[in-house]
Amino acid sequence: MKYICNVCGWVYDEEEGCEELDIAPGTKWEDIEDFSCPTCGVGKDDFSEV
Ligand SMILES: [Zn+2]
Repeated sequence: MKYICNVCGWVYDEEEGCEELDIAPGTKWEDIEDFSCPTCGVGKDDFSEV
């Protein structure tokens, strides 16, 4: 699954994780806590499934 930021369009891909945020590849979106978009800073509530 991939999730896109509704504000800036940044995408989180569960298969790739996010090196910038120290999130390992394969990490499920629902298992991520205290997430904020690396480019605009909004939380998970402002992301949608792609
Ligand atoms: Zn964003």
